[in-house]
Amino acid sequence: MATATATKAPKKMFIDGDWCDADDGRTLEVINPATEEVICEVAYGGRAETRRALEAAHKAMKSWSKLSAWDRAKVLKKTAELMRERVEEIARTLTLEQGKPLAESKAEILHSADTFEWFAEEGKRAYGDVIPHSVAGKRHITLKHPVGVVGAISPWNFPITLQSRKIAPALAVGCTIVCKPASQTPLSLIQVFECMIEAGLPKGVANLVIGSAQDISEEFLDNPICRKISFTGSTEVGKQLMRGASDQLKRLSLELGGHAPFIVFPDADPEVGAKIAVTGKFRNNGQVCIAPSRFYVHKDVQKKFTEATVEFARSLKLGNGLEPGVEVGPMFEKRALENTLELVSDATKKGAKVLTGGKRCDRFEKGYFFEPTVLTGLNDDCKIMTEEPFAPVMPLLDFSKLDDVIEAANNTRYGLAAYVFTNDLTVAWRMAEGLEAGIIGINDPVPATPQCPFGGMKESGLGRELAHEGLEAYLETKAVSFKLRDS
Ligand code: NAP
Repeated sequence: MATATATKAPKKMFIDGDWCDADDGRTLEVINPATEEVICEVAYGGRAETRRALEAAHKAMKSWSKLSAWDRAKVLKKTAELMRERVEEIARTLTLEQGKPLAESKAEILHSADTFEWFAEEGKRAYGDVIPHSVAGKRHITLKHPVGVVGAISPWNFPITLQSRKIAPALAVGCTIVCKPASQTPLSLIQVFECMIEAGLPKGVANLVIGSAQDISEEFLDNPICRKISFTGSTEVGKQLMRGASDQLKRLSLELGGHAPFIVFPDADPEVGAKIAVTGKFRNNGQVCIAPSRFYVHKDVQKKFTEATVEFARSLKLGNGLEPGVEVGPMFEKRALENTLELVSDATKKGAKVLTGGKRCDRFEKGYFFEPTVLTGLNDDCKIMTEEPFAPVMPLLDFSKLDDVIEAANNTRYGLAAYVFTNDLTVAWRMAEGLEAGIIGINDPVPATPQCPFGGMKESGLGRELAHEGLEAYLETKAVSFKLRDS
């Protein structure tokens, strides 16, 4: 796998307090999607390294879980501080390996630092209850207990954010963890681990295993030391893990795919709505689980909204994310670019019209650049209407009645996010109550924040990350009943 173009020594995994290579010396190249060049190589392990990491985490949990929440919080808070100090350096790595513009990389790191800080504090509030008794002489309480060693698997679109949502709450309540990032984007997470280590992370408490997804997940599933799997990724892999987890009734959190509707009502300014829609859609090239994917626009404002949308989409600056002013970077990999071409081709064959974009951007000799695309005239049977697109493509549709648009918006196996653009309070309430989605943005294209729950209904997932719910996900509840002596 190693090639002559790789310039640096392979980056390592982090197991039981040590940076290490794969047992058999295997490495994997990490590619810059803007230039298609090799950035460096990483150690690429499998089951044996994962087993060692789980064993280290199991050993470390004995003392980590006995620390007070206040002491554990010190490591998490210091990590947040170091991430903020090193934001420029980590953002550069993130842009190099993932492609997103620097401004988006910085925002991801700062959001993740906030997540570490928020859970450091929330860990101090993992309260149980005192429950009123029904029988004289009895007393009841609940105690919270860390779930155990966690296996955390995440994708490439937000390599730091999505691991932070697992590491911070798990460590805050006394669990220990083995993290598996996406194979193509391990570098920025390595830098976050450097922050954790410098912040005082004890040996074995958090481990980083980079390698074959199949091997690592099989070890997570088979090894009884691993008590919980927290997975962010595709619905298909999420279902496989759910089946595998049933053997040992392993705890599971699943953050999966989405197909979010964005609904524009006629009471509000369609040009402002178009700006919000374009901002939300083309962030990270549409490769966002909560990206708006179907745009339902009221017939009364359809013309103005469409014109403004096309104008904004055309004005976006495409380029290497490291360059100043770039608003849209390359797509993450060749496969993603090809999939986008296929979605557009399928839609046009079924009658859709391309209003702007629709093809690979030919200004760039290298890199997976796709022109921001707006489509109209779509049928319900177009792939882009049923499959999660994960692409910089906006399909525009129309509607005239509120109840009809709720039905259309909910007509999907997904239920992660939904967006509504209106100034009418009654409409906003009706939509918030009627939409089947775990996250709803009213005039807000970026609704995720550490203190609010994040997760999906239907086939978009199981459980919630962030907020108090995201802490509960790493806790078991024990009911303790006391029979008092007769006095
Ligand atoms: P994916 O194929 O499911 O991969 C995600 C992670 O799972 C990667 O670390 C991958 O490892 C690993 N993986 C792959 N096959 C596996 C298997 N059989 N068993 C266990 N782990 C396996 O997802 P993707 O297509 O790369 O990522 C995009 C998906 O993630 C989209 O569906 C998106 O909606 C979803 N997502 C959801 C959220 C959310 O919070 N709901 C957030 C972001 C993304 P390798 O890289 O080594 O293959």
